[in-house]
Amino acid sequence: MKRVCILFLCAVTILSCCASALCEALPTAMELFSADPAPDVPMRSDPAIDPLTVLVNKEEPLPWDYIPPLVPLEVPHKPGVSTQQMVPDAAEALTRLFAAAESDGISLGVVSGYRSYGTQKSIHARKVAQKGRATAELTSAPPGKSEHQLGLAVDVSSASINYRLNAIFADTAEGQWLEAHCAEFGFIIRYRAEWQKITGYKAEPWHIRYVGPEHARLITSLHVPYEIYMGYLKLCWDARAHLPATPDAARLAADH
Ligand SMILES: [Zn+2]
Repeated sequence: MKRVCILFLCAVTILSCCASALCEALPTAMELFSADPAPDVPMRSDPAIDPLTVLVNKEEPLPWDYIPPLVPLEVPHKPGVSTQQMVPDAAEALTRLFAAAESDGISLGVVSGYRSYGTQKSIHARKVAQKGRATAELTSAPPGKSEHQLGLAVDVSSASINYRLNAIFADTAEGQWLEAHCAEFGFIIRYRAEWQKITGYKAEPWHIRYVGPEHARLITSLHVPYEIYMGYLKLCWDARAHLPATPDAARLAADH
């Protein structure tokens, strides 16, 4: 275990020297990952084999023809919005999230779920025409670079603010409930104001991304952007991949 930690911390140190934006978020996470016992990092979700953990951002785009398996969302939507879609795991988790919210007296509504490359291209072009590229791209992803194309992201709002997608959602009872509970159902708040230099986007308290409950709880407790978290996970996987495989060797590694 100590060997894993040393490898991990060396890698984190190298990483921290390479990217100044990452440095701001590292101390907290380094303390947590070097704690004894270390957090129980889920090991089954390698992004190479688990599409639920795929990172999509301005540097990591999706192919234009990527279309995930989709099912309709069986939860309330913003009036006038057609039934939206997500991948089955995310849709099922969102149904449970909405039911839990209702039982707490909180009414949410879906504004936007899966968006195709073509739809994102149209939305983005309109925003750029309205605001100019630099401003538009603080709130609107270029085609191929939106989590909505994964079918794992959904924009949620409430009647209390007329279902607007606005920063004031964070101050509503609905927004605060979502912030407090979404990780229990496998979702994370993807874009926060303090992460803008890393994510490239302004705060979006309405945009939640499904990653599964194990990852969501850990990401929320670490309070780091998904970019940083995936960096940690890859370092952990690399470190553990270098551990000896036999029981005796593994025990020796643990003893030292
Ligand atoms: Zn969104």
